[in-house]
Amino acid sequence: MFLAQEIIRKKRNAEALSKEEIQFFVKGITDNTVSEGQIAAFGMAVYFNDMSMDERIALTTCMRDSGTVLDWRSLDLNGPIIDKHSTGGVGDVISLMLGPMAAACGGYVPMISGRGLGHTGGTLDKFDAIPGYQTEPDSALFRKVVKEAGVAIIGQTGDLVPADKRFYSIRDNTATVESISLITASILSKKLAAGLDALAMDVKVGSGAFMPTYEASEELARSITAVANGAGTKTTALLTDMNQVLASCAGNAVEVKEAVDFLTGKYRNPRLYEVTMGLCAEMLQLGGLAENEAQARDKLNTVLDNGKAAEIFGRMISGLGGPTDFIENPGLYLPESNIVRPVYAEQAGFASAMDTRELGMAVVTLGGGRRKPGDALDYSVGLTQVCALGDEITKDKPIAMIHAQSESAFEEASSAVRNAIQVTETRSEKTPEIYRYIRAEDL
Ligand code: URA
Repeated sequence: MFLAQEIIRKKRNAEALSKEEIQFFVKGITDNTVSEGQIAAFGMAVYFNDMSMDERIALTTCMRDSGTVLDWRSLDLNGPIIDKHSTGGVGDVISLMLGPMAAACGGYVPMISGRGLGHTGGTLDKFDAIPGYQTEPDSALFRKVVKEAGVAIIGQTGDLVPADKRFYSIRDNTATVESISLITASILSKKLAAGLDALAMDVKVGSGAFMPTYEASEELARSITAVANGAGTKTTALLTDMNQVLASCAGNAVEVKEAVDFLTGKYRNPRLYEVTMGLCAEMLQLGGLAENEAQARDKLNTVLDNGKAAEIFGRMISGLGGPTDFIENPGLYLPESNIVRPVYAEQAGFASAMDTRELGMAVVTLGGGRRKPGDALDYSVGLTQVCALGDEITKDKPIAMIHAQSESAFEEASSAVRNAIQVTETRSEKTPEIYRYIRAEDL
């Protein structure tokens, strides 16, 4: 028999907790037998004294098991269950292409995604821009679409990881979000509850990233790789660049349109292509669908070029209640803003730095993101044709197009965009799209 206060005391004294103690505490979080004050104190003790990898694995698996853990065995799928997760970015539309691409190569992708948080966009909000698409289907429909299309991207259902729901909201109110141990357990418990064989984790680095420094992003990437592999899911983390908007655009409908253009081959932003390929190739290798990086990339290029990935995207959309001809006619369905107008830099030169967070906030201000939970979104607004770092900027070449609903929203967004994109006389060096891979064998 354990006592919550003794477990907190032990962690307060920087002692290691046993798996049984962690299990007891997580059960208490879930069934309310541990109080809010005790959870807050536990979070703060972990914040200051941290957890070993073994403790983090125990916390993650106990949280994962606090609710339903999806089990795909009864579907007799003939491929691995694989997925990707990102710490969040601006113009990060990767999931929309990567899910269908991985499915087209033989994987099954039951992707449970989130809504926008702060300055970052949310995959679910992007799908909500598609009329009819159900982001909260019942479990039978979710399983049917995963089996038949190979991929379904949906929102978190109420019975997955209840322990994180309670713990996260208390952390948020008591200044303990910024603990690598707690972030690792929070992210992975939710991902691993989807019953995954393999996971590629996209940890962003730079001015639009959730983690404040490269070192902190790398520490999180190492923690996630160690804990996920320790919990039995083959996982690699990639450190990828968020020093600029990843796609050419940021918003909801505009990102969906860019995903369709990417899948159909109409336009592939080179940065978006590199990061999508890097993550998806890793998923194929971890899932045993490719022997090496070159083979994985070959397979992915084939399903992009022969239209199979695009077709699967269309099947997922219609399977979840969206239009049957979405891939052919996205313009018929996606909402458009009243004003679509360019914004110019104050001087000519080269785009040399971006405050990506501020660009994300400009989208929020336009109405494309939430200032507080529950806010309604305007799916049509956002930025398109956002310049890339290193681009030459002239007085005739806009640094972005702004999609706004009113003149005042346009004015506010244009001044935010001008402030966020630095234009200088000299061209700065190109930053890599992928900084490094952290695989289990690198730890
Ligand atoms: N995202 C999560 O899901 N959990 C955290 O703790 C931080 C970011």
